[in-house]
Amino acid sequence: MASAMTVKIHTPKQTTTMEIPVKTLSSDFMNSGGSNGRIGFISLGCPKNLVDSERILTQLRTEGYDVVPSYENADLVIVNTCGFIDSAVTESLDTIGEALAENGKVIVTGCLGVKEDEIRQVHPNVLAVTGPHAYESVVEQVHQFLPKPLHNPFLHLVPDHGIKLTPRHFAYLKISEGCNHRCTFCIIPSMRGDLVSRPVGEVLNEAKRLKAAGVNELLVISQDTSAYGVDVKYKIDFWDGMPVKTHMQQLCEKLGELGIWVRLHYVYPYPHVDDLIPLMAQGKILPYLDIPFQHANKRILRLMKRPGSADRTIERIKKWREMCPDLVIRSTFIVGFPGETEEEFEELLQFLEDAQLDRVGCFKYSPVAGATANQLPNPIDESVKEDRLQRFMQVQSVISAQRLQARIGNEYYVMVDEVTSEGAVARSFGEAPEIDGVIHINNEHDLVPGTRLWVEIIHADEHDLWAVPSEEQD
Ligand code: SF4
Repeated sequence: MASAMTVKIHTPKQTTTMEIPVKTLSSDFMNSGGSNGRIGFISLGCPKNLVDSERILTQLRTEGYDVVPSYENADLVIVNTCGFIDSAVTESLDTIGEALAENGKVIVTGCLGVKEDEIRQVHPNVLAVTGPHAYESVVEQVHQFLPKPLHNPFLHLVPDHGIKLTPRHFAYLKISEGCNHRCTFCIIPSMRGDLVSRPVGEVLNEAKRLKAAGVNELLVISQDTSAYGVDVKYKIDFWDGMPVKTHMQQLCEKLGELGIWVRLHYVYPYPHVDDLIPLMAQGKILPYLDIPFQHANKRILRLMKRPGSADRTIERIKKWREMCPDLVIRSTFIVGFPGETEEEFEELLQFLEDAQLDRVGCFKYSPVAGATANQLPNPIDESVKEDRLQRFMQVQSVISAQRLQARIGNEYYVMVDEVTSEGAVARSFGEAPEIDGVIHINNEHDLVPGTRLWVEIIHADEHDLWAVPSEEQD
């Protein structure tokens, strides 16, 4: 039985990964010495949820609450849940159970919060349940069960950029909430609602504050980054006294002017993504695209209610690489979707061969309670799904290994994430934190996280790269 809340960071060891929820609890910002209302906080799930956790914690710290790292020192525990897939629901329910057993006073928030009945059926004693991005409601519930402390502004200073759960040198920048798509395997729109874009001026101000606080890399996230601004008809906002459109391209142009790394995640494969490639070729934003293609066969994509066809996607990737030869593409796929035939699966394998993607994650399809895909006929047998996953991984790991081998001898500007007993662990534009591989710079112990330097790649496997510092550092 755990006596303290644990910190678990998912660090995949393979190029082809099964993505699982991340359970995090950072202690950077904690203050365990005071006798104010003391709150324990557990953040589960994806980076989007992590940003929600950062906002809730920022508000609570601003009000003077202490955030403590153990169940026994907390007056109350908040669990920010994930409900994306069934295993995430199970992990969320287990974590709530653990918090109840260890502490007894638990407030639940996050994606699973929309299913209050389901939570209360298993855990009738939770104090309160609120839904995703309902920051004010969580804080109101905290006030109800743990009165606002007497606030001493000198003891409870909160930095301008708020509380961050990521290391100091990179940060997630969430540009919108919700999603207008209705992919049949996904229940996120029913949990988080339709797309609501944040005003572009507000997003840019946050980016500027993060840079001022030492952040060197911004990871732009949302449910569908390419849809940014659709809901407000790309309306004009103002930033630094200048008009800026609430549009992906203008946002990227402005972020590119900050002079720090800007990495795009969760981009939908729409034609207007083409317009972002010149910004990458010009070095304004990182030449890295995280595009969840999910499948390649037209019929399966239609059943998933996803756009695109393999031919057009291959053409587009070719064009992108002509415009920006350094471009690194990451994607995720689902195998064993209901009704997927052997031929359709083989078409997906052929797509992998043709697309030559750099980094790929793969899920076996699993029905999510409430998803419309559950009503589709011809579910795929578990053993067939497993077999397809293995075959998929075999094909992609050869491709990933070859693409990494091709980088040997090249020089890259990298950023150090951590220093271990073996040396420094860093990333270049080609590796996003948490989900991709890393660049090991063995025997370099004097570097500190956030340092940037030039390295030469000397070795690669199918997931990671090894490098030595370049002789010239300009
Ligand atoms: S784009 Fe599709 S998979 Fe992504 S959140 Fe929206 S509905 Fe879900």
